Amino acid sequence: MGRYNIPAKRSSVPDEPDMQTPPEHRRVQSDIKKKQKTACQIAAEEKHAALTGKHIDQPDTIETENAIITPDEPKPELTQQAEQVSEEGHHDAVLFIRGVLNEAISRGSSDIHFEPKTDHYRIRFRVDGVLHDYVDRPGDEYSSIVNAVKVLSDMDIAEKVLPQDGHLELVLQEVDRKGVAVEKDASHIPVSSENKGPNKDHYYDIRVSVFPSVNGEVIVMRILNRESALLSIEDLGMDDKQLARLREVLLTSYGMILITGPTGSGKTTSLYSVMSELKSDEKNIMTLEDPIEFHLEWLRQSEICEPRGFTYEEAMSSVLRQDPDVLMVGEIRDPKTAEYAVRSALIGRIVGSTIHANTTIGTIARLLELGIPRSLLAHTLNAVIAQRLVRRVCQNCMGEYEPSKLHLAHFGLEDATGPFYRGCGCDQCEGTGFKGRTGLFSLMAFDDDLRALIYDQRPLAEIQNYAIEHGMKTLKMDAAEKILANEITVEEAARVV
Ligand SMILES: [Zn+2]
Repeated sequence: MGRYNIPAKRSSVPDEPDMQTPPEHRRVQSDIKKKQKTACQIAAEEKHAALTGKHIDQPDTIETENAIITPDEPKPELTQQAEQVSEEGHHDAVLFIRGVLNEAISRGSSDIHFEPKTDHYRIRFRVDGVLHDYVDRPGDEYSSIVNAVKVLSDMDIAEKVLPQDGHLELVLQEVDRKGVAVEKDASHIPVSSENKGPNKDHYYDIRVSVFPSVNGEVIVMRILNRESALLSIEDLGMDDKQLARLREVLLTSYGMILITGPTGSGKTTSLYSVMSELKSDEKNIMTLEDPIEFHLEWLRQSEICEPRGFTYEEAMSSVLRQDPDVLMVGEIRDPKTAEYAVRSALIGRIVGSTIHANTTIGTIARLLELGIPRSLLAHTLNAVIAQRLVRRVCQNCMGEYEPSKLHLAHFGLEDATGPFYRGCGCDQCEGTGFKGRTGLFSLMAFDDDLRALIYDQRPLAEIQNYAIEHGMKTLKMDAAEKILANEITVEEAARVV
């Protein structure tokens, strides 16, 4: 885990960091940076306590060889020169990355993409699920950016052929925001017209992935905002009836709660919300995650590490000896993990997990496919939640329009008279017509009759019909309600359901 301080301030910012360095210098730089990395790690460890507190330390703690070489010891000219360039270049690259992160966060982005092209590189932000261009930059500075990202997120700087994953932690304060705003004028990062960013200490976990491509290594950063990740279940977007049912389910002292949906549908956020609802000093809540998205004090979190053989299966086989009351398993994706999850629930634990399927009933089908007998499912499943994320209509630029009949019919709304609204595009939504996101939910809560249907080998369609007759909304039904409330557009809903 690369816990690292990204410097907030620096006196001068040259325009083009580290771009004139000849290749041989870069090699030396690379060696130096390797050493820097070690120093950073040590510094990071020492500052661990400070980092988990509310303040992040200032930059100039990056120690290099300079610190351990005595002044009268002569150094080869090349090394000296390269070192200066490298330190300077590294600082500038770090500063630049900090600026990009800051801007991305102030725009409410979830991901930042650094994409090398043949002669330049492009930075794009994902906002509300869609990629937007941010800036194009000269290609010759890209290697310093990649190196700095690797150092910051604790990756092997010399590895350029294989993909790498890392993590860094960022704390933004009011001062940082101002500081960066000033620096933005000095360097040439485009300035956002608005300051929508955080105004107190905000913690961000940044998950970093570096992936080789024909033009160089592509960097993708996932921004995980701890505050917004820890939504209470009320804030997820469920209606009152769904919430009440979920609360009821959470009173049960054992059994499985599964959350399903495609990648990027907000499953993990919902799972954390469910876990925080179960939070209690009297309970041991443990997690197995791959990777850990948010580091939280009140959870006992463990990270799956497949290359070292610490797989979900391996972890699940011994985790019960750690005496958990509640077990959060990042994902059930193989028969063994599924079996262990069911067994843990059978012996009186609450197990929360995500699983790849599209619907609530599809989750039951998936579990059967993973080899779980119906009798065990009938005994252990407490609830299945299917979900999607959809963009909300921007409330600032809503205008009436006529949606297509075909789209309306998809949601059973062909007879609905409207009026229907969509966003027309304004400054607040950067012309997209959308602002923020909400969830679509389908909650299948298991009562005795539903369990009996599963146990009795009834067809899945019959099980689904029973659930709907007893109050379960499908994703389409939930979407239809939100369309009629003009919270979302029918076109947006059709994109995900
Ligand atoms: Zn708008």
